[in-house]
Amino acid sequence: MTPTAVELSTLGHRIRHRRLAHGYTLDELGAIVGVAGSQLSLIENGKREPKLSLLQAVAVATGTTVTDLLSPEPPNRRAALELELARAQSSTAFRRLGIAPIKAGKTMTDDTIESVLGLHRELQRREREAIATPEEARRANTEQRLRMRAQRNYLPEIEKLAEKQLKAAGHVSGALKHRTVGIMAEQLGFELLYVGDLPHSARSVTDLENGRIYLPPASIPGGHGLRSMALQAMAHRLLGHQPPTDYAEFLWQRLEINYFAACCLMPETASIAFLDQAKKGRNLAVEDFRDAFGVTHEAAAMRLTNLLTEHFDIPLHFLRVDGSGAINRVYENDGLPLPEDVTGAVEGQIACRRFLARSAFEEHNRTTEHYQYTDTPAGTFWCSTQTGTTSDGEFSVTVGVPFDDARWFRGRETPKRAVSLCPDESCCRRPPADVTARWEGKAWPSARVHQQMFSPLPRGAFPGVDDGEVYAFLERHAAE
Ligand SMILES: [Zn+2]
Repeated sequence: MTPTAVELSTLGHRIRHRRLAHGYTLDELGAIVGVAGSQLSLIENGKREPKLSLLQAVAVATGTTVTDLLSPEPPNRRAALELELARAQSSTAFRRLGIAPIKAGKTMTDDTIESVLGLHRELQRREREAIATPEEARRANTEQRLRMRAQRNYLPEIEKLAEKQLKAAGHVSGALKHRTVGIMAEQLGFELLYVGDLPHSARSVTDLENGRIYLPPASIPGGHGLRSMALQAMAHRLLGHQPPTDYAEFLWQRLEINYFAACCLMPETASIAFLDQAKKGRNLAVEDFRDAFGVTHEAAAMRLTNLLTEHFDIPLHFLRVDGSGAINRVYENDGLPLPEDVTGAVEGQIACRRFLARSAFEEHNRTTEHYQYTDTPAGTFWCSTQTGTTSDGEFSVTVGVPFDDARWFRGRETPKRAVSLCPDESCCRRPPADVTARWEGKAWPSARVHQQMFSPLPRGAFPGVDDGEVYAFLERHAAE
């Protein structure tokens, strides 16, 4: 990985801090480590990346270690201010203004920098507010999904980081214990505290000053939600996240912390061993993977998108669909035809009615996975779907693969088949002609207003209402 500008700046500040602590001038330390003072100056200013051998020499000369020099922490408050200023001044939001950046020289007081930073923070806050229109949010979300698809939805650095942290906390195998998560937090200098009065808009709040991570109280003891939230809060710290300067960065950080939590709950090495065994027995199943690691069905299904393509060369799709048929979460690299809006967003779009992701809501037995082969214009896909209910209503979680890869999964012998012609509107978008003829002009539903950002307004005879559903409803009740 090439270091970012912020990482190089931080490293530079840490080297300068050690040098000054030892009373060396640039030339003096340069002489000891064998480079010109001017070279050292470039490195301290984050303008050049030092070789590892030079870092080792600097560490020895200033009585520290390379690991310490490479720490993402600014060495002191002044450095933290200067780093934040450099970062703010390099943001797109600031550069667009055409205002010359200031240099935080020795004569500039901390108070002055603080004041300028206050303006920058407000600028960033307004920028974030302004950019997060539903359309921008959808575009950013789509870009991120495509970026992840290009790398098989796999982030090797975070996989390794998680395994390292787990090992250090003494985790051996199986489900990650709540206690182990507590130890991981302690090792980062944090205490986990459960409070009932978190702000409504926050999942967790980290007090950096006092080393505390505040989480909501456990609503379901033993559920993996709390472990996941604590891990996500730690991930911000471990990954050196700074307050995001735009919506895309905000989304990316959220993806990284979710990814880290998933890696801790279902570590790569153990997961691959488990999945390999299941694949050899032609018995791959999301529910078994879920139960082996003590996580939710959705978390287990999503985790497969990180591992199955990368390690087993199996392309797949993941869908979380709510009771109204809207796609809430999606990942796809197997070519399954999915609905998209003009920005390329799939989230918020309505899934084909013929998909098991929707027809599974009609199944009576909801305790197990359901299976189906679906013929689409892009070929035949096999999938497994599990339904569930939250306070927001019903949802289904689906993992599917192209026909040829169904052979590795339990449920491949299902006789259930369906045909989807979507995006052809005659598939399931338009109500059948006879039903339309019967009800057209004789129905008057009142639209429910959608609150969620990603909810699209279904198009039809009545803005905001799916006329097919209205007609089907009328059909059902008219027969009574
Ligand atoms: Zn359809």
